[in-house]
Amino acid sequence: MTVVTRFAPSPTGFLHIGGARTALFNWLYARHHGGKFVLRIEDTDRERSTDEAIDAILKGMKWMGLDWDGEPYYQFARRERHAEVAKQLLESGNAYYCYASKEELAEMRETARAEGRAPGYDGRWRDRDSSESPAGVDPVVRFKSPNEGNTVIEDAVQGTVTIANAQLDDLILLRADGTPTYMLSVIVDDHDMGVTDIIRGDDHLTNAARQLQLYDALNWAAPRMAHIPLIHGPDGAKLSKRHGALGVEAYRDMGYLPEAMRNYLLRLGWSHGDDEIISTEQAIEWFNLENIGKSASRFDFDKLENLNGTYIRQADDGYLTDLILPLLEEKTGLSVTDHQRSMIEKAMNGLKERAKSVISLADSSHFLISQRPLSLDEKASKLITADSSGVLNRLAEKLEALSNWDKDAIEAIVRESAEAEDLKLGKIAQPLRAALTGTTVSPGIFDVLEILGKEEALGRIRDAAKI
Ligand code: GLU
Repeated sequence: MTVVTRFAPSPTGFLHIGGARTALFNWLYARHHGGKFVLRIEDTDRERSTDEAIDAILKGMKWMGLDWDGEPYYQFARRERHAEVAKQLLESGNAYYCYASKEELAEMRETARAEGRAPGYDGRWRDRDSSESPAGVDPVVRFKSPNEGNTVIEDAVQGTVTIANAQLDDLILLRADGTPTYMLSVIVDDHDMGVTDIIRGDDHLTNAARQLQLYDALNWAAPRMAHIPLIHGPDGAKLSKRHGALGVEAYRDMGYLPEAMRNYLLRLGWSHGDDEIISTEQAIEWFNLENIGKSASRFDFDKLENLNGTYIRQADDGYLTDLILPLLEEKTGLSVTDHQRSMIEKAMNGLKERAKSVISLADSSHFLISQRPLSLDEKASKLITADSSGVLNRLAEKLEALSNWDKDAIEAIVRESAEAEDLKLGKIAQPLRAALTGTTVSPGIFDVLEILGKEEALGRIRDAAKI
């Protein structure tokens, strides 16, 4: 049987980090088995579902590189099919009309509370005939769930979970206005879409028991289930806004690469021995449900940042250049020329060595497109003194005479100058770097000289040495 997994977000907000991990696990599982990954937007809550949220989810999935098969499904559009299944359950005697009023339901909750029971519907219309129905009341349709025995979930992560049926009351399938509830829609959709494996947060574990009861009543084979522990903040408390429970687009804006995010989220709840750096290809090859952890994982920004640095160092220079250009343009308000783009790409190998995020990469490449005269930061300014200016001016003269402006020839001249001045290389390289970049950190200085080109480099040296 072809494996079919699904990601079924409710579009009531952005694609948050927990959702992104659920989507990733489902995607990996489907890809590992050469199966299908379905995206289903569960938009049945009409008041809370928004187009902006749908947009954010689709964009977030695309950014994460989690491509779904076929068109996304929209659950609300399938409401007639859901209602049809409710009718089927009515006909088979597995569902019934319930006319209990709001007041009665409130009373039931009150009694349950007084008796120390969990609130729930008491089944008063379960065996009553509709002929007894009060006039003018639109009934809801409830599931006649088994009262005795247990429902057993054989969960791929949680193991065998047994829930006493007595604990589960008769849930509503169709509201009084005829609209289906989440519990009904979700099982009908999973069934109709051929979903074989449900991987989702363990906050859905009780729902799983109710859903299994419905599968039984319909004589449908239930999908396998894997309920993954939730993500906690670094302090062990459930992940909240305070911990940065943000939309994935916020991570993009903070300068994380999608491949680093995939690796980080994979490790947040799944392991493969001691491996930390796991490429997406490897993840597809290795992913399984057995290695999903049983306890909640903690979100750790430092770890994410380190992984991001690793992925940046491995990334292609052209790809990184394309990522930072819009950031540079936004910062400078100027458009980057082709010549500047190629300078940045040439410098990328050196720039990416130190970068932890795409943002810091953009910051550290900014000097390449700065207009003369550069403004030097505080540390860099301190390196330009009367002495070092003299050294720089004399160096500039020697470089002026150089006809082939390549790194090796430049290096030879700089070393020669250092010797002639009786200075260690660092003593000349430091003010040189300050003059060329306006800062005290940059890629290798000979690379910087070559990449800037003779005219620009000499101009910057002389600007700084003017003092
Ligand atoms: N729509 C549900 C949610 O966003 C998920 C349903 C499911 O995975 O079964 O929480």
